[in-house]
Amino acid sequence: MFIAEVLGIERNATKEEIRKAYRKAALANHPDKVPEAEREAAEARFKTVQQAYDILYDEEKRQVYDTHGMAAFDGSGNPGMGGAPDLDDILSQMFGMGGPGGMPGYGYGPRSNKPRKSPNEEQKYEVSLEDLYKGRTVKFASTKNVICSLCKGKGGKEKATAKECSACGGHGYKEVLTRVGPLLTQSTVACTVCQGQGSFFSPKDKCKKCKGAKVTEEKKMLEIYIPRGAQEGDKITLEGEADQVPGQEPGDIIFHIVEAPHPVFRRAGADLTASIEITLAEALAGFSRVVLKHLDGRGIELTHPKKKGDVLRPGQVLKVPGEGMPLKRSDARGDLYLAVDVKFPDDKWTPSPAVLEKLKEILPKPGPPIEADTVDEVDYDPNADIEDFGAGDPRGGSGWVDEDEEDGEHAQCAAQ
Ligand SMILES: [Zn+2]
Ligand SMILES: [Zn+2]
Repeated sequence: MFIAEVLGIERNATKEEIRKAYRKAALANHPDKVPEAEREAAEARFKTVQQAYDILYDEEKRQVYDTHGMAAFDGSGNPGMGGAPDLDDILSQMFGMGGPGGMPGYGYGPRSNKPRKSPNEEQKYEVSLEDLYKGRTVKFASTKNVICSLCKGKGGKEKATAKECSACGGHGYKEVLTRVGPLLTQSTVACTVCQGQGSFFSPKDKCKKCKGAKVTEEKKMLEIYIPRGAQEGDKITLEGEADQVPGQEPGDIIFHIVEAPHPVFRRAGADLTASIEITLAEALAGFSRVVLKHLDGRGIELTHPKKKGDVLRPGQVLKVPGEGMPLKRSDARGDLYLAVDVKFPDDKWTPSPAVLEKLKEILPKPGPPIEADTVDEVDYDPNADIEDFGAGDPRGGSGWVDEDEEDGEHAQCAAQ
């Protein structure tokens, strides 16, 4: 980040642009224009804006800054030596830009807006298609921080009083003034002595159970209900089950459903698809049998043909209405699409020549012969790989897989 960003301008901004940006930024951060609680932070920002402007508006200083960066400036704002701390760090703390965890540096202490809820815990939860189809209640053990039951989150013994932290004067945070070149910046950091609490108990006064931590770990059985028809991206929220933090409402545990891949079914919205294996004989002569086990364990039975004489062909798709996924909070269901995979006989099928002759007689004949002036009888490899098609092309790549239309033409020309 560059100093120009403090003013919200480009590095090569004109003088006029710099002046306008400065007025705008100064106005927005003017200590008199913000609520009491934000005044200190605004004051610091106001100073930074002013100092950024001082450098950028003065041609000489600006040129030095542009060539050498902040390191060229010492405390007086004049070119010189300066072992300055990282300007980016300071600025991102000041303006809450990309600071650690995206947290603005001026958020600690009594004047901060303490989050009313402890952070939510979000996690992915993989669910099988069967469970998404039927719905399921899942129980599991979870370990989380709960307010200490002995001290009720106080951290010390009942009659003990916490000692104010002398390191931070009980604020839980410290103002740190840092001079970066001409920029006198003020940032707020959590007190390391009391961990931002402002006070702590002496060792003998600490709660015996939580040892002053105010919270203890507890194992708890949790239960989530996955409604039937739930799908990838759905959220299941367990309200108030995240870690407890003293003085805050507990956050939620949020599960993001991830659909586990299924070996048989594929899902798109409420529809399902699967492929079914049909033998060649069944495809030609018909059948009546269970072709698939559904996600709830039911056998799905088909009778084919529906109309006498119909034949099933490879790649044909059968739609079974209402056998898809259930819809949430509804009785409606999607549809089931069955892709027909006609299984041809394998090598173990060794019919007699007489049977084959009979088949030829029964099944449809080839079309009219292809007329040609010359005929060559050729040999062939019965188990070739289509990936090899075009692989010998010096332009590289397989003609089958990667070629676009143009290259396809070349391959055809080359073959002529
Ligand atoms: Zn305790
Ligand atoms: Zn402290």
